[in-house]
Amino acid sequence: MNNVIETDSRVNQAALNFIANGPKHLLIDGHWVPAVSGRTFDVIDPATEQVLTRVAEADKADVELAVQAARRAFEHPSWATMSPHAREACLIRIAELIEANAEELATIESLDNGMPMGMAHFSVTAAANTFRYYAGWPTKAYGKTNPTDGSSFSYTLREPIGVCGAIIPWNGPFMFAAWKIAPAIAFGNTVVIKPSELTPLSILRLGELLLEAGLPAGVVNIVPGYGQTVGAAIVEHPDVDKIAFTGSTAVGKGILRASADTMKKVTLELGGKSPFVIFPDADLDKAIQMAVVGFTGNSGQACTAGSRVFIHESIYEEVAAKIVAIANQLVIGPGLNPATQMGPITTEKQFEKIESYVAIGHADGATLAAGGARVGTKGFFIQPTVFTHVTNGMRLAQEEIFGPVVALIAFTDEDDAVLQGNDVSYGLAASIWTKDLNRAHRVASALKAGTVWVNTMYEMDPISPFGGFKQSGLGKELGAESVDAYTQIKSVVVRY
Ligand code: NAD
Repeated sequence: MNNVIETDSRVNQAALNFIANGPKHLLIDGHWVPAVSGRTFDVIDPATEQVLTRVAEADKADVELAVQAARRAFEHPSWATMSPHAREACLIRIAELIEANAEELATIESLDNGMPMGMAHFSVTAAANTFRYYAGWPTKAYGKTNPTDGSSFSYTLREPIGVCGAIIPWNGPFMFAAWKIAPAIAFGNTVVIKPSELTPLSILRLGELLLEAGLPAGVVNIVPGYGQTVGAAIVEHPDVDKIAFTGSTAVGKGILRASADTMKKVTLELGGKSPFVIFPDADLDKAIQMAVVGFTGNSGQACTAGSRVFIHESIYEEVAAKIVAIANQLVIGPGLNPATQMGPITTEKQFEKIESYVAIGHADGATLAAGGARVGTKGFFIQPTVFTHVTNGMRLAQEEIFGPVVALIAFTDEDDAVLQGNDVSYGLAASIWTKDLNRAHRVASALKAGTVWVNTMYEMDPISPFGGFKQSGLGKELGAESVDAYTQIKSVVVRY
C-alpha cells in the first residue's frame, strides 16, 4: 500500500533563498513593484499545507500599467528595431540562464506545484529547449515575393502581432510560460503574463532571469493574481492584441467569447481525456509501465494524461491486474524527495474534486480496483486510483478529472478502439501500443487528437506543434505553426 515518505533535507539553498527573499512583486516595465492595491496572497506548499510565501496580488489597475509598459516596449526602438541576430542572442542567453539555474528552478517548481524533482527538471529542460528552439526563428520568419505581370512589385511582410496576454495554469507553470514567452519575443511581440494564483513562484524567478539576460524593460511583464480579476482584465483590455491561454475548457470558452469584443487573436490549449490503447500484440510490459505513468505523472494533473486506458478484451484481466499491482507500489511523497514517484495534488480544491470522482465512479457502477483514498494526514496526497469495468459512457470516462484516476475500458477490435477512443468531447492526445506498423498508422490517422504517440507517451519537443482537436483547443503552440500564431502578414503592392 502507498504511504507518504518524508521530505529530503538536502534542499537547494538558492531556491529557499528565493522563496524567503526574492522579489514577490509584479514585474512591470523592468521593475519589481507592489500591487497598486497593496494586496498579497498566500502561496501554499501542497506537501505540507504550510504557507511558503506571499505574493503581490495584481488587479485591473496593475494590468493597465503592465499593458501600457508592454505597448511602449513594443514600439520602442530598442525592441522594435532590434536586429533578428540580436534577438536570437537574447533568447539563447535566456536558455543558458535557465540551464545554469536548473536545480534552483526545479526546486521552486517542485515546492510550489508538488511535482517530483524528476518531472520538475523535465519541465525546466523543456523550457530551456523552447527558448533555444525559438532563438533560431527571428532570422527565419520571412515574407514572400508574389508573382506579378511585371508592372508592379508585390510582397508580404511578416510582422509581430503586438501585446500578447499569456494566461498560465498551475500544473506546469514554468514550461507553459516558456511555450508562450519564447515564440512571442522571438517574433518581436511583447508580453503581459499572468501565472496561476496557485503557482506563481517559478515564473517570478524567470522574470529575474529575463532581466539578467538583457531583455529590454517592458518586453515581458508579470502580473500574478486571480483569473476573474487579472485574467479577465487582460482578456478585456483593448490594447492587448492576442491571448495565449492554457487552462480548462470551461474558462477557455469564456475567454474566446470575451476576446470577440476587441477581436483579439486567440490560441487556446485546453483540457483532455486522452485514450491510451493497448493492442494484444504490444510489448505489454512497456505498455503497462507507461499506462501507469500516463495517469500518475504529475499526479494525473496533465492535460495529455492517459486517463482512459483501452485494453483488448483478450488481455483485459491480465493487464488490469498488472496496472493495479504497479499503482499500489508507487512511492508517494513530497516532490523534493528523490525517491518520490508521485507527489501531492497541487491544491485542496483539486484534491476534493478528485475525491468526488471516486464517489462518482462508485455511483456509476465501476469497480474500484486500487486506491481511492487520502494518504497521510498532512498534504494533499491521494492514492493512484484504478477503476476497472468502466464503460466509455460513464462520467469517469467522459469528464476530465485531472488527478491520478484511470478508467480501464475493454475493446473488441481496432474499429471499436477507434470508435470508443473518439467518443468524447476532447481531442488533445492519444497513445497507441502495438507492434503492427500498419495498424499503428491506421489508428494514428483515425484518432481525432492533436498529438498521437505510438509505443511512447509524453514525448515533447518544441519542434512538434502541439494543440488539441475538438474542445481541447484552438490553434497550435510550438513548432513552425507558432510563426502564424505570433505574427501577422501584411501585403504590400508597389505600382511601377
Ligand atoms: P483554469 O482554466 O482554472 O485556469 C487557468 C488560468 O486561467 C489560471 O491562470 C486562472 O487564474 C485563469 N483564469 C481563470 N478564470 C479566468 C477568467 N475568467 N479570465 C481569464 N483568466 C482566467 O485551469 P487550471 O485549473 O489552472 O488548469 C487545469 C486545466 O488546464 C485542465 O483542464 C488542463 O487540461 C488544462 N491544461 C491544458 C494544457 C494544454 O496544453 N492543452 C496544458 C496544461 C493544462
